[in-house]
Amino acid sequence: MTARTMTVRLARAQRRAERRDTLLGLLARLDTLTAAEQALLLEYTNAELASSDELRRAVQGQQRALQAVIDQTRAAEATIVEVEQERDAARQELAAARTYDRALSSVTGWPTRFTFDVTGSYCATCRAWIPGPPGQPHACPTPDSIA
Ligand SMILES: [Zn+2]
Repeated sequence: MTARTMTVRLARAQRRAERRDTLLGLLARLDTLTAAEQALLLEYTNAELASSDELRRAVQGQQRALQAVIDQTRAAEATIVEVEQERDAARQELAAARTYDRALSSVTGWPTRFTFDVTGSYCATCRAWIPGPPGQPHACPTPDSIA
């Protein structure tokens, strides 16, 4: 909430409080009405004021919830910017590493890329990596099969 918004709200609340005081003062001097009419007017006025207060509290709650969403959105946007900066830095590092890799390869004759076949599955029983498509039948080696 900005300082200007807060100032506007405080001024509005002050005017509202002054209106209420005046209204209550007038209601207190309504001796020209019958007793039943005065009671009814007072009852209705109090009901309207209570309803107004309730509505104002609800609006304030919604404004707080909205502000929380705005704050979350701003934090998310800041995080996106930060991650994008990290991505750009990582791309620059990758480009530099590839340039270095190519230069190293041209000098040494080493391949620029090594390929690994990582397709397979891990057998927890014999603690071995079983190459090939996962889910293949596998017989764990036994002391007899190794010998
Ligand atoms: Zn096994």
